[in-house]
Amino acid sequence: MKIQLNLSPLEEGDIKLKRPVIISGPCSAESEEQVMETCTQLAATGHVQILRAGIWKPRTRPNSFEGIGSIGLKWLKQAGKETGLPVCVEVANVKHVYESLRMGIDILWIGARTTVNPFAVQEIADALQGVDIPVIVKNPINPDLALWIGALERLNNAGINKLAALHRGFSFYGEAKYRNKPQWEIPIELMRRVPNLPVFCDPSHICGRRDILQEVSQKALDLNFDGIMLESHIQPSKALSDAKQQVTPDHFKEIIDSLVLRDPKVTDAMLQHTLENLREEIDQIDQEVVSTLAKRMLVAEEIGRVKKQNGIKILQPSRWEEIIEKRTAAGEAQGLSPAFTKAMYNAIHNESIRHQTMVMNQQGSSNEEEVAKA
Ligand code: PEP
Ligand code: MN
Repeated sequence: MKIQLNLSPLEEGDIKLKRPVIISGPCSAESEEQVMETCTQLAATGHVQILRAGIWKPRTRPNSFEGIGSIGLKWLKQAGKETGLPVCVEVANVKHVYESLRMGIDILWIGARTTVNPFAVQEIADALQGVDIPVIVKNPINPDLALWIGALERLNNAGINKLAALHRGFSFYGEAKYRNKPQWEIPIELMRRVPNLPVFCDPSHICGRRDILQEVSQKALDLNFDGIMLESHIQPSKALSDAKQQVTPDHFKEIIDSLVLRDPKVTDAMLQHTLENLREEIDQIDQEVVSTLAKRMLVAEEIGRVKKQNGIKILQPSRWEEIIEKRTAAGEAQGLSPAFTKAMYNAIHNESIRHQTMVMNQQGSSNEEEVAKA
């Protein structure tokens, strides 16, 4: 189902933006000098269109740096004046909203830990009633698209028309490449469900480390995101928050310079032809995949009948383990990642169990009935 929000472009009025919209600035405002230096160096790269800084920091555990507070608004606003760029801060409650509006902050963003709470989002929306300010809504920390869309709707219902979403990945337990899992399918589905909503990506909070920011930023552009937010600090290793993921303004410039802007649409006729041929090939292969899977399910049903007649359970764990192991190895030998093969076989196995269960539950001759008849 598509969601129709009443949207107007973020860049109406004083704010000038081009695609991709690049947002940068420190994770947290720490001192006047740090904010001014970072922002002026960022502006000098010529790449930044919006400056950011966290003023009140939602930290997972107490006793870490929880933000410099309202004084930071003044520094950021000053940096905006000196560079001629709009500035943006995170608001998590009504007090943050009022202080930011009083200070003339140009754009607000709602953080992941706030989007998750409809009470908090509603209070912010109520406080913004009648105010014409762009609001960027980060995804909730949990992978819940309805909650993300719900926050956008609450703001839209309060009359906020300049809205954007910001993808920062999703929390999970354990170690992995990313600090927050991208689960790209969720922002992609958001783009499909809410047409015309600008969707940005925040590689800094997805990655949690500097060395993979470039690849995630490039991926976001290739997936047609409208912009990128990257955290920057004049001395990243000394940062009071998110030290591992911040980059110097020079490093930021390097990343942005390296990004390739590819066309969202194919205009060249020759290229169109080549792509069509390749897509035809894919369609053909997909048809084969679907019929092969359907054939596999017929065999699974046959196995179900044999099991039923002989009173054997559907699931034999050792057989299932053997399948997973062998198929993963076979897939890997042909360039398929083990994670992909495993996920695919889990889905196939679930469907196979569904077919076997259908057979088991079917009325008709079973071993016991045959024995009884004899
Ligand atoms: C931030 O942008 O500094 C921040 C706190 O992000 P998130 O809400 O995505 O954790
Ligand atoms: Mn941060």
